[in-house]
Amino acid sequence: MIGLLLKKWMLLVLGVVLSGTLLAEDTFMLSREEERWLEQHPDIRFAPAPYYPPVEFFDENDIYRGITADFLKIMSERQGLDMNVIQYTNWDKVVEAAKNRDVDVWGAAAITPERQEYMSFTRPYIRLPAVIVVRKDLDGPLNMRDLDGHKVVLIKGYASSEYVKENYPNLDVLEVPDLETGLRMVSYGLSDAIIATNAAALFYIERDGLTNLRVAGESGFAWQLRFAVRNDWPELVSIIQKGLDSISDDELRTIFRRWINLGYEGEILTPQLLLQIAGGIFVLLAIMVFVWNRMLRHQVRERTQALNKELEERKALESKLRRLATTDELTGIMNRRHLFDCLRQELRRAERYDTSLALLMFDVDHFKQINDTYGHAAGDQVLKAVVGICQQVLRENDLFGRIGGEEFVVALLETDPQTTMNVANRICQSIASTPIALSNGEYLTSTISIGVVHSSQDKNLEVLLSYSDRAMYSAKQKGRNRVEAFDSLESPPIVL
Ligand code: GH3
Ligand code: MG
Ligand code: MG
Repeated sequence: MIGLLLKKWMLLVLGVVLSGTLLAEDTFMLSREEERWLEQHPDIRFAPAPYYPPVEFFDENDIYRGITADFLKIMSERQGLDMNVIQYTNWDKVVEAAKNRDVDVWGAAAITPERQEYMSFTRPYIRLPAVIVVRKDLDGPLNMRDLDGHKVVLIKGYASSEYVKENYPNLDVLEVPDLETGLRMVSYGLSDAIIATNAAALFYIERDGLTNLRVAGESGFAWQLRFAVRNDWPELVSIIQKGLDSISDDELRTIFRRWINLGYEGEILTPQLLLQIAGGIFVLLAIMVFVWNRMLRHQVRERTQALNKELEERKALESKLRRLATTDELTGIMNRRHLFDCLRQELRRAERYDTSLALLMFDVDHFKQINDTYGHAAGDQVLKAVVGICQQVLRENDLFGRIGGEEFVVALLETDPQTTMNVANRICQSIASTPIALSNGEYLTSTISIGVVHSSQDKNLEVLLSYSDRAMYSAKQKGRNRVEAFDSLESPPIVL
């Protein structure tokens, strides 16, 4: 908080008056009597104003600091004047202690007749101007005469207020008990201007966030601050005055620059600064959320693409598996289980819609011989060729599957018995008349025997299959390369 009062611009308007800086150096030297006096008074109690930055104050570690403290330091080095600094909680207590002779010296005091009854004063060494503080909507530099017709706030009991009332009796003034109240009145528009000590005014403007206020000009009044010494110690007044006089213009500038260059501004947490920080954090968060969102969206898009690809692959795999599960690997037509599933479904449908279907079961004749003569691989080629020839005769709707090694079943949907026999014969003749090319360049022709059954003869797939098997057996018996229809009268059904 102390830092609040130490802002550069506050100090820029703080004037320092030093008397006697041009005096010859030997006049700063303490006289024999003065030196002796100091030896006799080893415990001088010095009480600064507890909180009057940057003039003097105790910092957060209760260390005495400020312009006056720097003056004292130089004086101590130069004159051996070492005083014991006593910290009081407020100025009233400092005054009280001095009256009771519990305190011997003050650091930065204005001279008043009342105080002169018990204290003696050095010449002033710091000048604190009282300034005109207005709202920012009042433009330009202002002097006291510009305040005519405006409401002006003064602080009760202050010397600066007495000065204004005396010198500008026509002003529309209002007195308030303290500076804070007055500043707020101006800030809120209840009044137009306030006359106040620059440093203090700026402190409260900063601390209370009264940012619509500004310093518009000087009032013409300035506090003249001096060291004060109990009035029964004239020797010490003289010693301190000599110390003050010994401070050169260069030293003075150094002291000022030290306070001016502290760079306290950054540490001050005003409501405005807090708002700005909060705003900054908000913007930062918003940016983070935005970036985070974009990242998430990007990730989601990538993940979705990956999932889609995975899904495609899975679909492809599934369809491949389905094909493998339903297809005969060698010939590419339906496998036994899938064919039977389809046939059961077709039988149910035929029953429900009163349609019919025919089953053709066939087996390659003397296939063992083909295998034995040309080899197993050639046998496979023959099986594939037989399927190919068969497919050329069949329609798209017909079901065709391999139910065993060289045994096949064809289902003709919605076909009458005569057409069925025609198709069966066509298949049989086609196979017998088509030469099959083997990979070794040779050709062979093969034959098949077909057994035919019609759904009108039974509704049960297993029964129908056994009928067709028996009809096929009959075709084999009758010399192969031929078609036989199951005749229930000839061979009574055997239910499996
Ligand atoms: P039939 O005219 O009485 O049917 O005589 P066949 O020689 O065809 O007799 P059978 O049905 O007993 O013989 C079938 C042979 O088919 C037996 C087996 O080695 C062979 N075979 C079964 N599956 C395959 C196969 O996938 N590939 C090959 N190359 N041969 C097979
Ligand atoms: Mg067989
Ligand atoms: Mg056979």
